[in-house]
Amino acid sequence: MVHSGEVQVERTEQLSLVDFAVETRATPEEVYARVFRQLRPRTPLPAIRVEFRRYANANAQVKLKDSTLHIRMADTLAGAPESVMEALAEILLSKLFRRPVPAHSNDRYRRYLNRRDVRRSLDLVRQLRGHKQVRHPQGDCYNLEEMFEDLNFRYFHGLMARPVLGWSPHASRTMLGHYDASHNTIVLSRILDRSQTPRLAVEYVLFHEMLHLRYPAEHRGARRCVHTRAFKEAEEQFEDLREARALLRHL
Ligand SMILES: [Zn+2]
Repeated sequence: MVHSGEVQVERTEQLSLVDFAVETRATPEEVYARVFRQLRPRTPLPAIRVEFRRYANANAQVKLKDSTLHIRMADTLAGAPESVMEALAEILLSKLFRRPVPAHSNDRYRRYLNRRDVRRSLDLVRQLRGHKQVRHPQGDCYNLEEMFEDLNFRYFHGLMARPVLGWSPHASRTMLGHYDASHNTIVLSRILDRSQTPRLAVEYVLFHEMLHLRYPAEHRGARRCVHTRAFKEAEEQFEDLREARALLRHL
């Protein structure tokens, strides 16, 4: 194992080693060792284990257990450039040590995930591996397919192709609706499928998700804008918008 720290110390005697180190891609373990030393120069370097898992997304997590640093990340990240791997190491280890995450690391990592080719391959992996858990569109109170067609007729001239629609397995209060582009699926939280939830509130959440289908997210460098100007203008067309929003606040 060659750590960059060692290489610098040995620079005068072993120039060839420097050249070698510069041209060869560091292993993920070496990258984490390097970042660990930068953040904790006085702490002895723990053993480092990096595992690549078959996740459906670009997840990564780190924990320090039994004086070993365990890093688990999606195998989709295995091919990332070393600079991106290093940025991710800085993010994870900063969080582990409760230090502010350097803005440049966040930025570099996000930029990578937003790259067109990376997004495309992540979408593909999600399609192949993701097991979308959705319940039938006919809920206890509301039928999402019926509601979709009604909204489609009222707001989209009936021209929107119907995606997969379903109720979430969990009754989430924090995520009432979600459009998943890679599965072409709109999922509404089961918490809305109750008799005490007015139809208007459910319609509004579904309408909002339909707008995500109609107005895809825009990617500008590291930023991802999901509610574009066109999206917001279209949302204003919803009848009783204010009343619907007020209902959602009191679920
Ligand atoms: Zn939204």
